[in-house]
Amino acid sequence: VVAITDLRKSFGSREVLKGIDLDVAPGEVVCVIGPSGSGKSTLLRCVNQLEVATSGTVTVLGTETTDPDVDIDAVRQKVGMVFQQFNLFTHQTVLENCTIAQRRVLRRTRAEAEAIARTNLANVGLEDRGNALPSQLSGGQQQRVAIARALSMDPELMLFDEPTSALDPELVGDVLSVMRTLAENGMTMIVVTHEMAFAREVADRVVFMDDGMIVEQGPPEQVIGAPEHARTRSFLERVL
Ligand code: ATP
Ligand code: MG
Repeated sequence: VVAITDLRKSFGSREVLKGIDLDVAPGEVVCVIGPSGSGKSTLLRCVNQLEVATSGTVTVLGTETTDPDVDIDAVRQKVGMVFQQFNLFTHQTVLENCTIAQRRVLRRTRAEAEAIARTNLANVGLEDRGNALPSQLSGGQQQRVAIARALSMDPELMLFDEPTSALDPELVGDVLSVMRTLAENGMTMIVVTHEMAFAREVADRVVFMDDGMIVEQGPPEQVIGAPEHARTRSFLERVL
């Protein structure tokens, strides 16, 4: 689903991705962990060209997104992204948030888009909040709307960048459980997270990044349970 080869990204003279190789298979859940500033968000953003790579290649769903002539919108349409900040349209209702892109981009009718939105809202436990404004919802509910909105576009890949980091602790569980269900239902996911319990339980593979490089990767019981590298160990000591 994703193939990344020798990806490098610099901001000015500062190289923040220093040759990343990463493949993600269909249905695989990859959790990316690592210290602040290690390049996790930049890596995720390079997948759908929110950041333009300095060199290397990124192929998403069979399309090389690092090709300058790529139709990036066609790729982005199939890639759902959920951020730490929910990025909902604040002046529109939950239902409108979940239907706008379906109607504009996928040209679905209002009725069709609303039916799909309602199904996805029900799947995240918010079937009765369609008419609410985002400001009337808790952070955890808003993040679940953001997930429902992304799923309403029928993505083939979901990217999550610390989706629970802005939430009060008691709201984190509901969002993680939606993500767990999504993973169990076979969605291909790349999840940047500090939730080690989630990574341990849900990830097929954990990737530890430090200083713009992948230091170590493998099944969670290996990377989190028995890390090989000193840098991984010292990171885990700080977060666990
Ligand atoms: P965090 O855990 O804090 O979210 P991260 O691993 O996601 O960190 P990135 O956001 O990818 O880290 O940032 C990697 C490095 O790139 C940081 O040093 C950051 O300051 C720098 N950086 C990120 N975006 C930009 C930008 N648009 N312009 C300049 N520097 C940037
Ligand atoms: Mg980040």
